[in-house]
Amino acid sequence: MSNSLDSKRTVAELKELRALTGDDNGAQRVAFTDTWLKARGWVRQKVVDLPLEIHNDAAGNTWFTLRGESDKALLIGGHMDSVPNGGWLDGCLNVLAGIEILRRINAQYKGKPPITVRVVDWADEEGARFGKSLFGSSACSGNLDMNEARGLVDKSGIKLPDALKNVGIDFERVKDSGVELKNAAAYLELHIEQGPVLLDLDLPLGAVLGTFGVERHAITFHGQAAHSGSTPMNRRKDAFLAAARMSPEVYRIAARSGNGVCTIGSCTTKPGIVTSVVEECRITLDQRHLDAAALAKMLQEAKAASEKFAQEGNVKVSWERLWQIAPRPFNDELIAFCDEAIREICGKSHQLPSGPLHDAAEVAFAGVPTVMMFVQSLHGISHNKIEDTKEEHLEMCVTAFDKLADKAMAWIQDKS
Ligand SMILES: [Zn+2]
Repeated sequence: MSNSLDSKRTVAELKELRALTGDDNGAQRVAFTDTWLKARGWVRQKVVDLPLEIHNDAAGNTWFTLRGESDKALLIGGHMDSVPNGGWLDGCLNVLAGIEILRRINAQYKGKPPITVRVVDWADEEGARFGKSLFGSSACSGNLDMNEARGLVDKSGIKLPDALKNVGIDFERVKDSGVELKNAAAYLELHIEQGPVLLDLDLPLGAVLGTFGVERHAITFHGQAAHSGSTPMNRRKDAFLAAARMSPEVYRIAARSGNGVCTIGSCTTKPGIVTSVVEECRITLDQRHLDAAALAKMLQEAKAASEKFAQEGNVKVSWERLWQIAPRPFNDELIAFCDEAIREICGKSHQLPSGPLHDAAEVAFAGVPTVMMFVQSLHGISHNKIEDTKEEHLEMCVTAFDKLADKAMAWIQDKS
């Protein structure tokens, strides 16, 4: 029955995993390493009593399948891999909560639920070794850029295809994993927030609206080098001055955009010496928004501002796109279920966008109705050994996430 869900067991298992695969510096489950394989083997041991079909797909994602009367499937996802010196909850909370939900559903329906329920442990979500995140889920969604991925090299010069071969994965076939999504009717992912929004609101849980779209550009201002002593202030073509004026401006652009964010993350100057006016100043701009039109407007406003400041400072400006991804809004009906499940468990919910990308963004890209639930992060910090969440909140998130799974199952049955 549904009361067989034991959220305390999930917390105990998280602690067990931490002891098994972490050290004084944090979690060490970097994808394709022995510790990662150990963590995955440990999960398999945890489910030996359940009537599951377990297999790795062509991209190395592990699927735990509880067959139902219908092939239509509810998917629950997470990732066992971590960054080096990572936190104890990022990714594995999702998998272990999913396993607990499988136990509940198996007990309630005596091994045969009305629809199929699957937990997936995505391979290499973090991209810690090859600098490319969402590997397993982007292969599965079909979104992985094969040419780019083929050339990826780790710090010791090992190519991604060779590292994959070592763990039994044929790089050229990774997109065959897309077959796993054939009967997917909904995808749910629980995750720690990794930011301070829920903490500041003093709320344990939130429903996620989607993942931000990103525009990432380098902006270079071109002025003229000139002697810092002999050049009067009104005769300078100061590339740094124009770039510096962008800094307060991007704060105003973000503020006008609603819930968008803008970051100038780096600034380099040439010639970069103490006795010269700056000839060339290159800054990077990262802009994120959940709404595609609002994101386009933020970018357009930044371009207009850069041209205005360039003209006023008698310098020139050029732009170069570094990277871009469209926003991935989640499914409205599933967001409503997620809100409802949260309110049932803790009274109050909050809707928020996700700044970081998650595997859920790839599944949404593939056209599967998707939603995520966030649980509060203490300190608002992740990818760090101090990453933490109150135990009572961990228990609440497993219970609320289970309610969401129940609602999603009923929704899938209604639709078919
Ligand atoms: Zn994660």
